[in-house]
Amino acid sequence: MTGAVPASFTADDYEARMERAARQAAGAGLAGLLVAPGPDLVWLTGYTPTAVTERLTLLVLAAGRDPVLVVPTLEAPDAERAPGASALTLRDWTDGKDPYATAAAAALLDTGGRFGISDNAWAMHLLGLQKALPGTSYASLTEALPMLRAVKDAAELELLAAAGAAADAAFEEIRGVAFAGRRETDVAADLAALLRRFGHSQVDFTIVASGPNGANPHHEIGDRVIERGDMVVLDFGGLKDGYGSDTSRTVHVGEPTDEERRVHDLVREAQEAGFRAVRPGAACQEVDRAARGVIADAGYGEYFIHRTGHGIGVTTHEPPYMIEGEERPLVPGMCFSVEPGVYLPGRFGVRIEDIVTVTEDGGRRLNNTAREMVIVD
Ligand code: ZN
Ligand code: ZN
Ligand code: ZN
Repeated sequence: MTGAVPASFTADDYEARMERAARQAAGAGLAGLLVAPGPDLVWLTGYTPTAVTERLTLLVLAAGRDPVLVVPTLEAPDAERAPGASALTLRDWTDGKDPYATAAAAALLDTGGRFGISDNAWAMHLLGLQKALPGTSYASLTEALPMLRAVKDAAELELLAAAGAAADAAFEEIRGVAFAGRRETDVAADLAALLRRFGHSQVDFTIVASGPNGANPHHEIGDRVIERGDMVVLDFGGLKDGYGSDTSRTVHVGEPTDEERRVHDLVREAQEAGFRAVRPGAACQEVDRAARGVIADAGYGEYFIHRTGHGIGVTTHEPPYMIEGEERPLVPGMCFSVEPGVYLPGRFGVRIEDIVTVTEDGGRRLNNTAREMVIVD
C-alpha cells in the first residue's frame, strides 16, 4: 500500500516516467506493461484508488502509444484528479460491461504479444485479460524490469532523506524510554507513535526483538517482557510523504557482556564495510560480500542468515537486492539498505541498518544515528 502522494512531482515527471517505462518494456521485448493499483501505478501516475476493489483499474503502457488508464466509471472523477492525469487517456467502463474488453480495445491490445503485468495484479484480472486477449502471454513486471524504479531522481532522494531523518528522530526518542519491565509490544507502540509524530503517514513495521527473540530476524513483536541484560533489535520504518524509511539499531538494557559488545562491534564493522563497498559500477553482490566477509572472517558466517540489503522507494522493500548472484551494477541515485546481522539461536541477535544512496564517488547514508551500541534503561 502507498501513502499520500508528495506534491513534489508534476505531470511532466509522470509523463517522463511513463515514457521511460514504455521504452524499457520495448527494450525487454515486451509489447507493453499492464499496471495495477499499487507502487508501480503510484510511481507512474501519482494515482492511488481510494479502495482497491474487484473492479478493474489498469494502466496500459506501450512504446509509441499514449498511456491509457482503464477505470471504473464511478472512480473516473478521482482518477481525473491524479497528478499524472493530464499525461493519460482515461477509458472508463460501467458496471455490466466487460472491463477486459475495454482494456483490450482501448489499448489496441490485439497483437498477441507478451506483456509485463504488475506483481500485485489480482489473479482474476490476469485471467480476464488472458480470456479477452487470446494469444497473449505475461511476465512479472518486477522480473522483466527490476530496475524500473531503482534510480531515484533528486526530488525522490530528498523525500527518502526526509523519511530517513524522521526515522532517526524516532530512534533518538526511543532510546530514552523505559525498556526493562515493559513488553515488546509496548516499546513497538511507542515507536509507531514516534514515526507518526515525525511525519510518517504509514507505519510498515516496528520490530522489537528482545533477548533470544533477537536471534530470529523475522520476529516482529510479542508479549515478552524485556529484562535487564537483554539485547534488543529495533527495526522500524514506513512511508513519509509517499517515500520509505527503514532503519535498525540494536540497543542493550544496562551493561552488556564482553561477548555482546564484541558481536555488536563486529556487526558495526560489517555494516561499515558494506557501506564502503558502495560506489557506481560495483555489482550489488559486492556490497553483500564486503559485509559478509567481515562476519565470516570472525567465525560468525553461519549466523548471518539473510541478504545484506534491499532497495527502497515508494515501498520499503524492492529491487535492487544486495545479495550474492546479483551482478547488476550500482548506479548513482539507487537507494537501498545495508543491514548485516548476527543471530545466535536461543541467545540474542544484532542488526545494524542504514539506508544508503549511491553518489558519483561512493555512498551517502540516509540514516545517521549512533551505530555504537546504545545503552538503554
Ligand atoms: Zn546482555
Ligand atoms: Zn529494516
Ligand atoms: Zn531493511
